[in-house]
Amino acid sequence: MRDEAEQSVRYPQGNVLLRNLTRDFPVVTHGQGVHLFDARGKRYLDASAGALVASVGHGNREVVDRIHEQLLQVAYVNGTHFTTRVTEQLASRLCALAPPGLTRAAFLGSGSEAVEAAVKFARQLWVERGQPERTKVIARVPGYHGNTLYALSLSGRPHYKTFFGPMLAEVVTTLAPYPYRSGLEDYARDGAEHYVRLLEETLRREGPHTIAAFIAEPVIGSSAGASPPPPGYFERVSALCREYGILTIADEVMCGCGRTGRFFASEQFGFTPDVLVLGKGLSGGYAPLSALLVRQEHLEEMRRGSGSFMHAQTYLQAPAMTAAGLAVLDYYERHDLVAHAARVGEHFQRRLRKALLPLPHVGSVQGVGLMAGVEFVEDTSSRRPFPRARKVVERLLAELFERGLVLWSNTGHADGTNGDLLMLGPPLVITEAEVDELVDTLARGIHHFFQEAP
Ligand code: PMP
Repeated sequence: MRDEAEQSVRYPQGNVLLRNLTRDFPVVTHGQGVHLFDARGKRYLDASAGALVASVGHGNREVVDRIHEQLLQVAYVNGTHFTTRVTEQLASRLCALAPPGLTRAAFLGSGSEAVEAAVKFARQLWVERGQPERTKVIARVPGYHGNTLYALSLSGRPHYKTFFGPMLAEVVTTLAPYPYRSGLEDYARDGAEHYVRLLEETLRREGPHTIAAFIAEPVIGSSAGASPPPPGYFERVSALCREYGILTIADEVMCGCGRTGRFFASEQFGFTPDVLVLGKGLSGGYAPLSALLVRQEHLEEMRRGSGSFMHAQTYLQAPAMTAAGLAVLDYYERHDLVAHAARVGEHFQRRLRKALLPLPHVGSVQGVGLMAGVEFVEDTSSRRPFPRARKVVERLLAELFERGLVLWSNTGHADGTNGDLLMLGPPLVITEAEVDELVDTLARGIHHFFQEAP
C-alpha cells in the first residue's frame, strides 16, 4: 500500500472502475490551453485533446463563465416537456451553419447516443413509410461509431467486439478507403471508383430494398488514423444511396466542429447526408454533449405519420449541456477558430510529414487540418505490421507520455491488415509554436524508442 502523498499524485486501483484494470494513472489537477498539469506539477502537451474533444483548450474562462450563468438560471429540464433559450439558440445557430436542408437539431450526451438516435431515426422513417423490411444498415471497415451495443455493431473495429457477439442489429459492411493499404497504384485517381464499386456490390448482394441507411465518418478517425476519402468518393456514394433511396448518415463526432479546417467535414468532402451527427468538440469537454441534425421533410413525414420521433433520454436537450455548446460556438466565432484551425492545420500536416516520414518504422502519415494519424510497421517496404504481441504502440505511447506528450493510439487489427496507429488531434486553439514543440517532441520520442527498443 502506498502512502497518502503518493496516492494523491497517482491513485492505485481504487474504487473507480478504470478501463485498464492493471495500471494506475496520474492525477490531473488543472489544464490551461493545450497543456495539462498533474499533482506532481508535471506538464503535458495534450496532443490528442483528450479523445479529440478539448477543441477550445483547457481552463477556458470565457466558456466557463457562460456555462456558469446558465447553471445558476436552470441546469435541467425534461426535454420532452420544455425547451430553453440556450437549446433553441444552439439549434438555430448550428442549423444555420449546417449543409442545406439540415434544419432540425436534437441534443444528447455522447457520440454513441447520437449515432444510435440517428440510426433509430432512419429505421422509424422506413416503418412510417410502409417499408418495414428496410432494417439493415451499411457501415464501413475500418470505422468507429461508439461503444453502446448498436453503435458498436456498426463499428468496424473487431477487437472492441471480442466479448460481445452476437451483435445487436443487422449490419452489413463494406471496405472504407484507407490509402496506405488500398493496394492501388494511384489512390487519388482510382480510389473513388474502387471503393464505390465495392459498396455497389454490397448493395446488390443484400438487396437495396432491405437497407435503411448507410453510415460513414467523412474522415475516418481512431480506427484508421485520420484517413480522408479519395477525391470524388462521397459525391458518388451520396448519388448511389439517393438512387436506391437509402438514407445517409454522416458521423462527424470526431472530424466535425472545425477539426478538418471546415466546420463540417461532410461539406469539405462532398458528402450530402440526410442525418449528421456531432459530438466531442461541440462542447469542447465542458459538458457531455452530442447533436443530431435532420431534414425538415423527414420530420414532416413523421409528423403526418405517428406524430413523434420515438426516442428520448433523460438528458435530451438539457440546458446544462446546450449552454456549453452555445458558449463554445460563440468562442469559435469570436476567435475565428475554424479559420485558425485550417491555417495552423496546414503547418501541422507539413511539419509532421517532414519530421516523421524519414524515421524508421513510420509507414504512413496522413490526415487533414488538426487531425492526423501515423501508422508504424515492422517493414516499410512490404508494409508488414509489427506482430501484435510486441505491443509496439502501447510501449511507444508510454515513452511519449513520459516525455510529456499525451497521444491516442489504436492497436491495429488482430488479423494484421493494419499496423499500430498513433492518433493526433490537439486543441484547435494550438499555435504554430506549440505545433513545433509537439512535432519535435514526437519525432525525438519515436527516434529514441526505435533505437532503444525496436
Ligand atoms: N463516432 C465517432 C466517429 C467517434 O470517434 C466516437 C468516439 N471516439 C464516437 C462516435 C462515440 O462517441 P462517444 O465516445 O462520445 O460515445
